[in-house]
Amino acid sequence: TQRRFAAEEEAFVVTVCAQLSGAIAHAEATGALRRLASADLGAGRKQREAIFHGIPSSPGVGIGHVVLAQQTVDLYSVPERFSEDPDTEVEIFRQALKAVKRDMQNLGGGLQGKLNSEELALFDVFIRMLDDTSLGGEVIEAIKTGHTAQSAWSSVILKHVRTFQEMDDPYLRERAADVDGLGKRVLSYLVATNRQDIPLPRRIVLVGEDLSATALADIPVNRLVGIISLRGSSNSHLAIVARALGIPTVMGAIDVPWTELEGEELIVDGFNGHVVSRASRTLRRSYLQRQKEEKILIQDLQKLRDVPCKTPDGSSFSLWVNTGLRQDTIASLRSGAEAVGLFRTEIPFLSRSSFPTEDEQVAIYREHLETFAPRPVTMRTLDIGGDKDLPYFPIDEENPFLGWRGIRISLDHPEIFLVQIRALLRASEGLDNLRIMLPMISTITELDDALDLIKRAHKELVSEDGYNIMMPPIGAMIEVPAAVYQVAEIGQRVDFLSIGTNDLVQYLLAVDRNNPRVAGLYDAFHPSVLRALKIIFEQAESVGCQLSVCGEMAGSPHGAVLLFGMGYKNLSMSATALLRVKATLLATSSDQAREIASRASLMTDASSVADFVSQSLEEIGC
Ligand code: PEP
Ligand code: MG
Repeated sequence: TQRRFAAEEEAFVVTVCAQLSGAIAHAEATGALRRLASADLGAGRKQREAIFHGIPSSPGVGIGHVVLAQQTVDLYSVPERFSEDPDTEVEIFRQALKAVKRDMQNLGGGLQGKLNSEELALFDVFIRMLDDTSLGGEVIEAIKTGHTAQSAWSSVILKHVRTFQEMDDPYLRERAADVDGLGKRVLSYLVATNRQDIPLPRRIVLVGEDLSATALADIPVNRLVGIISLRGSSNSHLAIVARALGIPTVMGAIDVPWTELEGEELIVDGFNGHVVSRASRTLRRSYLQRQKEEKILIQDLQKLRDVPCKTPDGSSFSLWVNTGLRQDTIASLRSGAEAVGLFRTEIPFLSRSSFPTEDEQVAIYREHLETFAPRPVTMRTLDIGGDKDLPYFPIDEENPFLGWRGIRISLDHPEIFLVQIRALLRASEGLDNLRIMLPMISTITELDDALDLIKRAHKELVSEDGYNIMMPPIGAMIEVPAAVYQVAEIGQRVDFLSIGTNDLVQYLLAVDRNNPRVAGLYDAFHPSVLRALKIIFEQAESVGCQLSVCGEMAGSPHGAVLLFGMGYKNLSMSATALLRVKATLLATSSDQAREIASRASLMTDASSVADFVSQSLEEIGC
């Protein structure tokens, strides 16, 4: 009917459509629409592709099949899965129940005499809840309708948790947490059984809700072609590791219906932050073409490997590499890097189930020092905390990036720190290419304490244990605003400084580097960051301390030109970025870079700086 619609009606329709379009895109992506279409409208109808948006976090295009990251045992994120073999699922479920009942009996037995009889009776209640006449029976019914044991269990248990949560009686309301706990306990057995027998596809796209660098430990990295995480941002550590490995990655892809994509083919577009499911043939072909072009570009860059690092007017610069994984060693060597500017020692710690012993650490460090010798290798001491939790050293904090991180943990746990320092020093014996770097320095006292411990460890090794080890150069990271204003004092105490722009940007701009919601505010080209970099440079010069930059800013051609123009001659970056940066600096004279940096420093916002640098580099022909 043609008529004039009121503004309220229009707003109402827009609201309904916005809700519906999200639901439809979701259903298309998960195949729910296809199932409906073949059931109700006849098979053979074509599905439209769905494109989800996130934050581009590691460039490249990856096409592969989804593997969901090992679930942490969370009832709320169990995928809705179906099985064609309900008998096996029932058997798996019964085994899990048996194991939990045994746990409960043992737990109850162990607490005899410590709890009163009412509290002890709770264990019997839990055991009875798992019986066939109670929750157990309900779940088995759900499995028989086609659900896997995990999905059936989580949906039944969550229904009961909600019922308890809504009760008026506060005592009963609190029981929701008990039911939830019981649910997790059974789920952990179910997850453990499932993990053993899922075959992995040849080309893996790893997908998870909140992936950290640890997730890579469970996957054969050589088969990994893409990573998607619903949380996190392009400066999360997972993204940094993915860039080092050259794996296309999209972070903060909050709309991806991850629990329902297992086994589906996805395209990960790490250039633009897109995730495509059910791609049309045309789109798939254009992505394959992009992959091919990228490969040719990378091969082409290899020509620059041994070209001396000199600008057209003869000014020298040094490009170093950031590393930490065994898998990126080959890429680091192939990039022609002159040294390792940052070895993140926490990375080998992440993929283990306990702290490595001193001897185990010696073996890890020695392997890397030998691989790069005689080139210097800058080993940064353990920088855990923030978004780098060790599975065996959990830290639970409201504000982890402002909390117990890096050197703070090392100094509170000198036994861990000293073992690491001893291992580093022992690993360097006879090679003498070690440099030790301290992360997250925010006070001079921290630095002095750490230096004392390092000297003590060296002295013990040489005079008591008879090792013949040189005292390596010691450096500090400048990555906290407090350190920016004490560069001179810090620089007088150490042999070198290195700027961690990833953290410096987050702390200067008060933007969590891991939070996709504020990712648009995280920008290394913010005028305040550029000013801080200028201050650091001048202060380091004033005390004659060697200075480099090892944050991600150094690994982008635009960032590198700005830094070079400010006077920075030593940049450290991931191996996959190095030759691109080298190509740009080889084409830019020092006068041009200085001019770009000086004009950028007068601008008032980050996007003007970015546009200006892009335009200038285009004019130069980069
Ligand atoms: C940095 O903060 O810039 C840095 C190099 O260290 P990380 O990214 O490991 O915190
Ligand atoms: Mg840092």
